[in-house]
Amino acid sequence: MSFAKLAEWGEDRRPTVIKVGGTIIGGEHPPVIIAGPCSIEDRDSALALAAALKEAGAQLFRGGVFKPRTSPYSFQGLKEAGLPILAEIRELTGLPVVSEVLAPEQVRIAYDYIDIFQIGSRNMQNFPLLQAVGRLDKPVLLKRGFAATIDEWLLAAEYILAEGNSQVILCERGIRTFEPSTRNTLDISAVPLVKLRSHLPIIVDPSHACGRAELVPPLAKAAIAVRSDGIMVEVHEEPEQALSDGAQSITLKEFRQLVGALRQIEMRRV
Ligand code: PEP
Ligand code: MN
Repeated sequence: MSFAKLAEWGEDRRPTVIKVGGTIIGGEHPPVIIAGPCSIEDRDSALALAAALKEAGAQLFRGGVFKPRTSPYSFQGLKEAGLPILAEIRELTGLPVVSEVLAPEQVRIAYDYIDIFQIGSRNMQNFPLLQAVGRLDKPVLLKRGFAATIDEWLLAAEYILAEGNSQVILCERGIRTFEPSTRNTLDISAVPLVKLRSHLPIIVDPSHACGRAELVPPLAKAAIAVRSDGIMVEVHEEPEQALSDGAQSITLKEFRQLVGALRQIEMRRV
């Protein structure tokens, strides 16, 4: 086990708390709910969805414009053209925006449009990219690599912290196992394990963990029960029409029900 000196607990045992817009993530603060489509597909649907999600209780909006797709023939996102839509969502709803960057040059291009820079699972060990977001004065959401150990994940966070950016949020999004019934396997133990070792906030993405909409609510509930600092969930108005990750996207109606259930669990958790 290697020691990530900046990512792991220091002597003062002070948790990292991240403030974005009016929302605080980490420490003893209530878990945050991040929601939105896998990809921004067009302006009108994204804006309508964002407004409805806010109404339903989402505190941050997620939406990919630079998409890391397994196949080069799949929809790659709106890229630069999607950035002004993110800014418009932030302006109209007041929700801070989480979106992924795939390369250091995109960090510069996207700087004004994104409030939390997501580093995706496939890029967890893209060291030049980690260093590029490490030089930002904005928070970074670092997803766990789908085949990364907790040690490797904390050391990836260390690359960001070592550049001077202390605002890192970890995100467990499932790891690859032998089980084919789910897209990945949610490593729920990662939440309490990371909390034992690190002062950084950790949230859970149940959508990419399971790849199946019907499993998203139970996994999201489990995440809150184990004291995750939040969840990030994919929502689509018409999942069967989605340009990416439709199978794991829940509907607005399901999202509304989920928020109610999560707040109940939050009130009762110990
Ligand atoms: C996503 O959030 O849409 C995404 C591509 O996630 P991951 O990097 O976890 O696969
Ligand atoms: Mn997705």
